[in-house]
Amino acid sequence: MSEVIILVDSVAGKVSKATAELATFGKKVGSVTAVICSSDSAALLPQLSTMAIDKVITCTGVDFEKHSTGATAAALAEVVNSIKPSAVLIASTARGKEIAGRLAVRCESGIITDAIDLDADLITTQSVFGGSTTVHSSVTHGTPIITIRGNSIEAIVGSSTPTHEDFPVSYDGADKAVVSSLAPAVKGGRPELTEASIIVSGGKGTDGNFAPVESLADALGAAVGASRAATDAGWYPHSFQVGQTGKTVSPQLYIAAGISGAIQHRAGMQTSKTIVAVNKDADAPIFDVADFGVIGDLFAVLPQVTEAVTAKKG
Ligand SMILES: Cc1cc2nc3c(=O)[nH]c(=O)nc-3n(C[C@H](O)[C@H](O)[C@H](O)COP(=O)(O)OP(=O)(O)OC[C@H]3O[C@@H](n4cnc5c(N)ncnc54)[C@H](O)[C@@H]3O)c2cc1C
Repeated sequence: MSEVIILVDSVAGKVSKATAELATFGKKVGSVTAVICSSDSAALLPQLSTMAIDKVITCTGVDFEKHSTGATAAALAEVVNSIKPSAVLIASTARGKEIAGRLAVRCESGIITDAIDLDADLITTQSVFGGSTTVHSSVTHGTPIITIRGNSIEAIVGSSTPTHEDFPVSYDGADKAVVSSLAPAVKGGRPELTEASIIVSGGKGTDGNFAPVESLADALGAAVGASRAATDAGWYPHSFQVGQTGKTVSPQLYIAAGISGAIQHRAGMQTSKTIVAVNKDADAPIFDVADFGVIGDLFAVLPQVTEAVTAKKG
């Protein structure tokens, strides 16, 4: 049976949702071995028993916090050379893609980034050119190393009893850092934009008043996004911009309020599973990609939706 390695993705000692999604993709191919390369390994291990994972390997002997991506790629390469898996799946975050690139060089393997689907034969699907083109591709050299975008699959959640083993690795610290400094994202009570299952985004139509957008987001447990017109105007921080020059998101539900749907905005949200648009202009291009549309004033529509959602929650 094929064995697929997934790299456990975590933030501050908490295994991310992306890890459960990687495991679910891995199950399409064969048995799933999760590899932990983290200084928080003791805290991460028990969290993996809710995911579709058959075996956990904890890489030991290296200070992963100190050496970061270089050490993780080196450790993963040792695991790959030992196990010879049929593929390695990594979350498509900036850090994940850096690790994947380094791993591909170490293993002399082909790499595919930003896949949104993967079949049992390791053929990936990517959505490119702003969602206008779908590409199917596979790695033909070495061990396929594939990064997968968050929210691309409904993760299997249940209880599992994976076996566990420690895997001692070594690292000489020789890799040069690609990222010299990282500024932690400003955290509110809302989910991270690229991980959120639901996003409510506001555009120029908000006229700088994001209160109805935020209220609906909070009622839905959603993240808030913004168009570039809104971030350029200083109405919302640039780190919340969705689109070609902002974040690429693929939530289960994307609500665009007061956003016209320019190609550069659509490039960042077009693969969302369900798109709802609220816009005063019936001819706004956002309606071309929307599954549901409300032609109306967002200041009248959003509060009603918020009220209905809140009432339903009781
Ligand atoms: C190289 C390049 C990269 C870019 N990258 C990005 C990117 O990453 N992300 C991005 O978003 N854009 C990007 N843009 C900008 C993009 O082209 C658009 O200018 C931008 O997306 C428009 O933002 P908007 O839809 O909020 O504003 P507008 O296009 O001005 O649309 C506002 C919409 O709000 C509606 N509206 C107004 N009032 C209301 C109301 N009260 N209720 C309901 N609807 C209302 C209007 O009918 C209109 O459709 C980029 C542009 C370039 C050239």
